[in-house]
Amino acid sequence: MTQYQFPIIGRLGNKASRVILITIFSFLVIFITTNIASSQTEAKLPAPQRHPLPPSLAEWNVNAEAGDYFSQVEPSPLGYLIWSQFPVKIYLDLSEGEQQEWVEAVMTAIREWDAYIPLQRISNRAQADIIIARSRPPLNTTRDPKTNKLEFSRARSARTRYEFDVNNSRLIHRMIIEISPDQARIHILPSARHEIGHALGIWGHSQNPNDALYFSQVRESPEISDRDINTLKKIYQQPTRLGWKIIKN
Ligand SMILES: [Zn+2]
Repeated sequence: MTQYQFPIIGRLGNKASRVILITIFSFLVIFITTNIASSQTEAKLPAPQRHPLPPSLAEWNVNAEAGDYFSQVEPSPLGYLIWSQFPVKIYLDLSEGEQQEWVEAVMTAIREWDAYIPLQRISNRAQADIIIARSRPPLNTTRDPKTNKLEFSRARSARTRYEFDVNNSRLIHRMIIEISPDQARIHILPSARHEIGHALGIWGHSQNPNDALYFSQVRESPEISDRDINTLKKIYQQPTRLGWKIIKN
C-alpha cells in the first residue's frame, strides 16, 4: 500500500538527498507500473499538471515586497506536494493519550492555516489526508565523520513525513505529523503551525526567523507570515503528478 517515506530533517536539498529522491522515484515508477500492469496491460504515470487553487489561496494578494522562499522548497519524486481536493481532512491521533492543551494548540494551528487552505478535522483515520499524532518522534541518529561514532541528537519535538498511495486510480499522498507531548506548552502551537506548513506542501525551510517555516525553533514564535503564504501560493501554482489519474492503456 504505502511505500516510501522519509522525514524532513533540518535543511533539505543537498546532493545526497537528491540522489535518494531519484532512486525512490525510479522504484516508484517500477512499483506503480508493475502493480498496475498485473491487472491492466499497461499503465503510465500522469503527466505533471496544475490544479486549480482553492479560492482562499487564489484570493491571496502576493506581497511582492515581502518575497518568498520558494527556491528552498523541494518537490517530491511525484512533484510538488499539493492538495487538490478540499477541504483537506485531518485526523488527530490521540491513541497515546489525550491532553487538552495539546489538542487546543493543534486546533489553533489548524484554524490559522484554514484561512488559506480549507481544512477539516474528521474522526475517521482511514479517510484522513493528514494525520497528526500526539507522540514522540524517534531520535535522530547521526554518525560523526571523524570518530565514526553513532551520536544521538537531542529529542526531536516534531516531524512530518509523507507516503504515496493510489486511490481510485488517482495518485495520492498522505502526511503524517508527530508532535511530542513532552515539550513546553508554549512550544506546541508554533510546532504544530510549522509542521502543518510542511504538510500543506511547504517542503523546505525559510532562512528568515520571522517565518513560521524558519528552520529552527526560536524564542519569539513567528506567526504565519506573508512570505509563508507567498511561498505556499507559488507551490500551488506548480504542476504535480499527485491528484491526477494514472493513465491506463
Ligand atoms: Zn521543519
